[in-house]
Amino acid sequence: MSVLDSKVPEGPIKDKWTNHKNNIDVVNPANKRLIDVIVVGTGLAGGSAAASLAEMGYNVKAFCYQDSPRRAHSIAAQGGINAAKNYQNDGDSTYRLFYDTVKGGDYRSREANVYRLAEVSANIIDQCVAQGVPFARDYGGLLDNRSFGGVLVSRTFYAKGQTGQQLLLGAYSAMNRQINKGKIRMFNRHEMMDLVKVDGKARGIIARNLVTGEIERHSAHAVVIATGGYGNVFFLSTNAMGSNVSAAWKIHKKGAFFANPCYTQIHPTCIPRSGDDQAKLTLMSESLRNDGRIWVPAIKEDAIAIREGKKKAIDLPEKDRDYYLERRYPAFGNLVPRDVASRAAKERCDAGFGVNNTGEAVYLDFSAAIQRYGKTEASINGLDTEDKSLVIKLGTAVIESKYGNLFQMYEKITDENPYVLPMKIYPAVHYTMGGVWVDYNLMTTVEGCYAAGEANFSEHGANRLGASALMQGLADGYFVLPYTIGNYLAKEIRTGEIPTDLPEFAEAEAAVKKQIDFFINNNGTKTVDHFHRRLGKVMWDKVGMSRNTKGLNEAIVEIKQIREEFYKDVRVLGTSDSLNPELEKAGRVADFLELGELFAKDALDRNESCGGHFREESVEVGGEQDGEALRDDVNYRYVAAWEYKGEPSDAVLHKEALEFNDIELKQRSYK
Ligand SMILES: Cc1cc2nc3c(=O)[nH]c(=O)nc-3n(C[C@H](O)[C@H](O)[C@H](O)COP(=O)(O)OP(=O)(O)OC[C@H]3O[C@@H](n4cnc5c(N)ncnc54)[C@H](O)[C@@H]3O)c2cc1C
Repeated sequence: MSVLDSKVPEGPIKDKWTNHKNNIDVVNPANKRLIDVIVVGTGLAGGSAAASLAEMGYNVKAFCYQDSPRRAHSIAAQGGINAAKNYQNDGDSTYRLFYDTVKGGDYRSREANVYRLAEVSANIIDQCVAQGVPFARDYGGLLDNRSFGGVLVSRTFYAKGQTGQQLLLGAYSAMNRQINKGKIRMFNRHEMMDLVKVDGKARGIIARNLVTGEIERHSAHAVVIATGGYGNVFFLSTNAMGSNVSAAWKIHKKGAFFANPCYTQIHPTCIPRSGDDQAKLTLMSESLRNDGRIWVPAIKEDAIAIREGKKKAIDLPEKDRDYYLERRYPAFGNLVPRDVASRAAKERCDAGFGVNNTGEAVYLDFSAAIQRYGKTEASINGLDTEDKSLVIKLGTAVIESKYGNLFQMYEKITDENPYVLPMKIYPAVHYTMGGVWVDYNLMTTVEGCYAAGEANFSEHGANRLGASALMQGLADGYFVLPYTIGNYLAKEIRTGEIPTDLPEFAEAEAAVKKQIDFFINNNGTKTVDHFHRRLGKVMWDKVGMSRNTKGLNEAIVEIKQIREEFYKDVRVLGTSDSLNPELEKAGRVADFLELGELFAKDALDRNESCGGHFREESVEVGGEQDGEALRDDVNYRYVAAWEYKGEPSDAVLHKEALEFNDIELKQRSYK
């Protein structure tokens, strides 16, 4: 029998959450004042959790490494947030959002969690509107929606291309109200360095004040980890430069199982890499696929001429363009899910049809949308719909009103005007569906330690649908954790304050100090980035968009080698008692070097293709689905949860079998 208990409540799926909430222990308001909760991370998941828990009366200590919660990576989210409101009257419903998410995740998520997510999605929008989040509105003043990949309805709420920022300002205001009241103690510029367990329970953390270098002990009755995803294990990704796995990895080392580490999302629409010295990739929001059409030249000679600068995209007539997503997936066209769109772009580029100098780019073209909108605008205003320059001018204005800031960002980075020339895009690492294993209550396998947002293995299975990460993070923080944590905390009302002079705190603190001293005194010859880049290259080449047994075995060996060299030869300049970004990076890369190996091991274990995890050995042969990913439900219908045992190679696999009672398991087709 599995050691994992998902604690999914009994009963019909539509009643599970309601019944569970009705049976959760409630902590009386006076007792809440006796209970401390640490929330590590104040992005959308942690910020919303901290604000809600404090509003309920708990004493919250919140930590982030930035100078303000407002600068969490969540701020980068551009496109939008999903909710089953059915404002467009296009047939959306809780069930449809649930169905799309389970199917989009290639049937590798926990059904009951996804249903709950769909259920609470509508509340999130109401909550955020009440906070003053300026969602886009339609002509009549109602909230507007657009479509994201993998769905056939419009359910994505957005605030231009800055949805994450606006939502984060909402959560931050809610937090600030509590900071003012003294219910949240905010520790900016503090990094969690380790978890402290006492008698098997999470009782606190060791944190480093990043400005002074001081190592601090903080205690609580429960610890919530909301520290985001680990896409930066690839070095190059669309994540913020500081995004890291360290907090999640530290709790993993203290007993929290790590689930599905190999489930990574490679986003199809990013600005292509321009050279070897690059340290960051930029996303072009998926919302652009509402209006942009993706294509490459249909004739290889044209692609070569474009790469050599002898032709431009606009020189190619319609008949010489291959709108390959529309061709291969007529039902969903440019709005197929991200994994499908990414693989299709790679397939075309690998076949020699790429359109930039590296051969790794496809076009995202808005000319048809500009024409379409321009004609509509001309018609509405009684103007000449055949006047070409007028139509382009009017259409451009519409596109600018929808995506202006994204177009501006693209032009600033590439120095090309995307209103005139199609954008060039290519897939890049973007999001990690894997993460800390949690049960239905969001508790990890360490008692009293919870994980929320991108840090947990979440509801997205093997592939996340666009605009669903913000939904999940805010669902966790505003609507799930504040209830479910009550069950645990109700038993803590007699515990009293947790002292920080316990031996467990001293031991954890000593280990942290030892690691810091090691880095400062190692005096090697190579920078931290040197090792991070090498790790990233192995990850991208062998554990990236497509994976095979040989490459994965090589990756496991190579990552271990890089890790060994890192400890022998890394050089960290500066001191430990001051602001030292190199030292911060060293600790984070040390953890990436362990995670990377487990990641490859997990990918090797899963000899099936599902969602973002594409194994070259597991592909459909013949028939309508020829060449598409082949899932293996007989052997791999489980969550892979890894237990730490020292070296990543020694990690022990535990399987949580996935039951599907309300959705029929099917071949995922977007044709
Ligand atoms: C460019 C981009 C665009 C995106 N657009 C969308 C979108 O349109 N819609 C959508 O749904 N999703 C989108 N996503 C995904 C989404 O933004 C993220 O999944 C989500 O914001 C993660 O939120 P989070 O609260 O879990 O973590 P984060 O926002 O990453 O916050 C992590 C927090 O943890 C803190 N932290 C981390 N480690 C430590 C530590 N050791 N000690 C102390 N603090 C720590 C950080 O300071 C921060 O406060 C996008 C992602 C990217 C990269």
